[in-house]
Amino acid sequence: MPEIRCPTCHKQFETEASKAMPFCSPRCKLIDLGKWLDEENSIPTDIEQSLEEGSFKDGTDWD
Ligand SMILES: [Zn+2]
Repeated sequence: MPEIRCPTCHKQFETEASKAMPFCSPRCKLIDLGKWLDEENSIPTDIEQSLEEGSFKDGTDWD
């Protein structure tokens, strides 16, 4: 299977194993997006959980 390197965490992974190409995971995709939106890279480590719980829009503490 083809392997590529994640632009965010530089981990090698199989392309077929990812749901967030060209990143290894949805989290890395969000982190990369965050780099463009927030120069300080202050991405919460639990961003993936927040997404799954749908708490993104309703007052999650971002700072
Ligand atoms: Zn990654």
